[in-house]
Amino acid sequence: MRKFLITILAFVLVALPSCTEGGAEVYTAYGTAMDTNVTVTVYGGDSSAVADGCLELLYNLEAEFSVTASGSKLYRLNQGDTVKDEGHFYTVCGLANEINLLTDGAYDPCVYPIVKLWGFTTGEYKVPDKDELSAALKLVKESDISFTENGISISGGGMADLGGIAKGYAAEVLKSYIKESGAESAVISLGGNILTVGVKPDGTRWNIGISSPKNNGKLLGTLKVEECAVVTSGSYLRNFEQDGKIYHHIIDPASGMPADNGLVSVTVVADDSALADGLSTAFFVMGIEKSMALAKEVGAETIFVTESEIYVSDGLKEKFTPDASVEGVYKVIYN
Ligand code: AMP
Ligand code: MG
Repeated sequence: MRKFLITILAFVLVALPSCTEGGAEVYTAYGTAMDTNVTVTVYGGDSSAVADGCLELLYNLEAEFSVTASGSKLYRLNQGDTVKDEGHFYTVCGLANEINLLTDGAYDPCVYPIVKLWGFTTGEYKVPDKDELSAALKLVKESDISFTENGISISGGGMADLGGIAKGYAAEVLKSYIKESGAESAVISLGGNILTVGVKPDGTRWNIGISSPKNNGKLLGTLKVEECAVVTSGSYLRNFEQDGKIYHHIIDPASGMPADNGLVSVTVVADDSALADGLSTAFFVMGIEKSMALAKEVGAETIFVTESEIYVSDGLKEKFTPDASVEGVYKVIYN
């Protein structure tokens, strides 16, 4: 059973001994947070203390953003409280509203009543009955995260779910901490959210693997990048089967159903990892055409994957190398 954002205390910290790479001390800290495997590799400075510090930070952010842990700021918001906050929670709620506007509602932070009905945070997976779904849809449509002088609240009586941007936002917080701490560079990996920090000590570009949605443990390909965010949303990452049909976790807020437009995976490459995270979720709902137009507008690069095609945006043409396993399975289209 997989639960989303509830593994706050299940924090496993395994430390790899330090070694050196390109002349810099390297250390990787491993953890589990925000319901995903986390690795933070830090180069230079006091790399072990900084990498461990990143996991501590992540642990604190998760305690604020968890949708299921009673006592988290998000949990209190969803109970109908007005939450006073001027820190990360405030920032991430504001960002969620901005991405909602930018994507014309495809990313909707108030989608939680529907996500919960499908069981994606409780683990009680089921196809909702029609009446339940239309009641939840109405609630989602009427709800917004509101900012007043008293604090943050949900208007319309609904509930928010920050799972579509929390990991991307958290990665940005870690990046700031790493830069302030005097480390040279780092790679932060929170499940499908990768954020590279600085330049690789040996002067070459970072090599980021993109997972194959075919779930065969293989890569779709690799991306050679400098400092940037590489964020993937995929239907293969969280789903369940009922009566022979697969239902995944990215919900179209217009219908209340898992988004169904032929996409199986969307990767967004951008400077900011919170934006890339919000966009990858939204793009999965919006489909290829609308997403490509918005990506151009905001200066993001994309990789869209269907059952048999990989669409790679122009800006990634020189950076993306398809894996050998793609041959005969996917057609790679550059556009
Ligand atoms: P990601 O893995 O970043 O694409 O985020 C998926 C998670 O975001 C889901 O597990 C839900 O918690 C939440 N979510 C699902 N659909 C939406 C949506 N349309 N807008 C905002 N959040 C969503
Ligand atoms: Mg996302």
